[in-house]
Order: sequence, then C-alpha cells, then structure tokens
Amino acid sequence: MVTTPWTSTNDSFDANFRNTIAIPLTVWIVRGPFNDQRQHAIEACIRTSAIWQNERIGVIFSPFEIRDATADPQAASHFAFPNGDLGDVVWAPLRTDIGFVAGRLNIYWVDTVNGATTSGWSNFGNQIAMGRNSGDELLSHETGHAFSLTHVDGNANFNQENVMHSASNTRQFLTEGQLFRAHVNTGSILNATYNARPGEPTRSCNFSANTAECPASQRRLWADGGFPAN
Ligand SMILES: [Zn+2]
Repeated sequence: MVTTPWTSTNDSFDANFRNTIAIPLTVWIVRGPFNDQRQHAIEACIRTSAIWQNERIGVIFSPFEIRDATADPQAASHFAFPNGDLGDVVWAPLRTDIGFVAGRLNIYWVDTVNGATTSGWSNFGNQIAMGRNSGDELLSHETGHAFSLTHVDGNANFNQENVMHSASNTRQFLTEGQLFRAHVNTGSILNATYNARPGEPTRSCNFSANTAECPASQRRLWADGGFPAN
C-alpha cells in the first residue's frame, strides 16, 4: 500500500507492482478417456490463463499437474457430481476417494455436474468439479468463484462477456473491481489457500459493496468490450 496524501492539485505517486502470483494446480481426470480429458483440461487452463493475462489479474497456474484417476476403483462413483451447494458432504468424498493435494486448488474432471456434462461447480474454496463437455472458458468462471467472486447476472453494468455471468460461452472480461476482490478478500483462495499475500491488507467486499474500502464491482480502469472505463 502507498500512502496517498492527496492535494487539490495533480498528485502522482510511485507504486511498485508485486511479482506475479504463481498458484500450483492439480487436475484429477476422473472420467476418461484420459488422453482426451487431459487435453480438455489443458485447453481450459490455457484459456483461463489467457483471460487472466488479458485482464491483468497478476496470477498464473504454476506448477501445473494432471493426475490420472480413471483407473481408481472409486472413480465411477464420482462420474455424476451433484449440486455443489449441498456443502462439504458432496466435496469431501472427492478428497477421500479420488485424492486431494492440500494447499492448492484441486480440479476434478468428471462426467456430469448437477446433471449436465457442460456444467461446472466451485465450493468457493480449493475444489472445482468440471463436466466432461464443459466449455474452456467455464474454468475461468469457476476459478472466479474460488477467488470469492459471485454472479453478475441481471446487473446492468455487466453482460454475458463477463467471466462471472452464470450462463455464457463468451466469458472474457473481469472488471478491476472484481480483480480487487479476488486479491484482497479473505475468502479468496489467493489468501485462504495459498497465503500468497502475507502481511498485505485483506477485506471482505461483497458484490454490491461500493465504499472507500471496497471499490464497486463494476469499477473499470480499462474498458471491457462495450463497457467504457469508469
Ligand atoms: Zn457460477
């Protein structure tokens, strides 16, 4: 943080950017064919990384690991992942039956999520379930939840091009208000799982907060498609 003693004339301050935050990732392929879903997972991670790069989030996946769980005798019982909002009763069995690497985000590529092969789910923590035919950009959405972000649906300041729209295949933008929340919210995995900002300020900014402590979710420093900087 930089102390900013604002005056009534133009002020300028120097701020050093932190290094990019590298977050280790483990992907579990639960439903095969392994080679096909391995490629799918790689492409989803590449798409997510590209969105992050374009949107200047300052986070990369590294190192990146894919584990083959297709031969696990318990794999078939996890092909159909239920509604993820049911709580840890549905997330814990993935950890105990399939596997889990503590201290990092674990993504499970299953067959269906809440009944659809195109769906995904986040537990707003360090687990994500992805359907067999999910779009590559969906992983940017689920990792957004892991970064504490919630849906933008129905808000006039957002459209389907925002990463946090719940139903879209054109997700690509994150506002700077969202990037702020991803980094500073205590519940974001950047803090809660990775402790990537030790000693740095944290906040608990919900979607609708708009205060000096929590800039509005729609706050943009750079334009997002049809939405100008504001
Ligand atoms: Zn969502």
